[in-house]
Amino acid sequence: MFNWLLRKLWVMPRYIANYGYTDGSGDWYIVVDSDKCDGCGKCVEACPKNVLEVIVDDYDDKVVAIRKEHHKNIKYVCAQCKPVSGPRDVRCQKACPSGAITHSW
Ligand code: SF4
Ligand code: SF4
Repeated sequence: MFNWLLRKLWVMPRYIANYGYTDGSGDWYIVVDSDKCDGCGKCVEACPKNVLEVIVDDYDDKVVAIRKEHHKNIKYVCAQCKPVSGPRDVRCQKACPSGAITHSW
């Protein structure tokens, strides 16, 4: 938590974590801004597919991450929230109070 506060104050560098992949159909990444994420876990609770988890990063801070088994399949596992067509209900983004989690598609 202390390191997270230092990053907030720009004493320590922020980092942007990109989880996902690019294939012939496009870019499929979930992006976490460590400067905004405090590891509260609200997005983890909101996710219907158990895609997310809170980890402790290299700075000893809690931050959300994408489970390793989903790094290469998020286009498909996230399709319930983000279908190719029709209305979207991106629960992880809606649940995040600080706008720390975004998607490339
Ligand atoms: S888009 Fe849906 S399935 Fe994918 S991480 Fe967010 S809440 Fe979970
Ligand atoms: S809801 Fe937002 S701040 Fe909380 S763990 Fe998820 S991405 Fe981080």
